[in-house]
Amino acid sequence: MTYEQAIEIITNAIQKDKMTVERDMALAIAQKTLEKQIPQKIEFDGNQFICPNCGNGINNIFSDKYCMECGQRLKLELRE
Ligand SMILES: [Zn+2]
Repeated sequence: MTYEQAIEIITNAIQKDKMTVERDMALAIAQKTLEKQIPQKIEFDGNQFICPNCGNGINNIFSDKYCMECGQRLKLELRE
């Protein structure tokens, strides 16, 4: 199962199941955490490379695979 498929199943569960506040929160956390595992292309703001999720500067572009600030998995390609 891919991360995208897992997110889809979780999203369907959120929409269909009877939710308590606790279940809703737990599923929201799982969804956000899974989304960060899908590599996102980095951005360039004209001055530095930045995380597409949180906007944190990426210092070492050759070795960073995750954002140090938010944990977003990074793809070392520029977002167009
Ligand atoms: Zn980040």
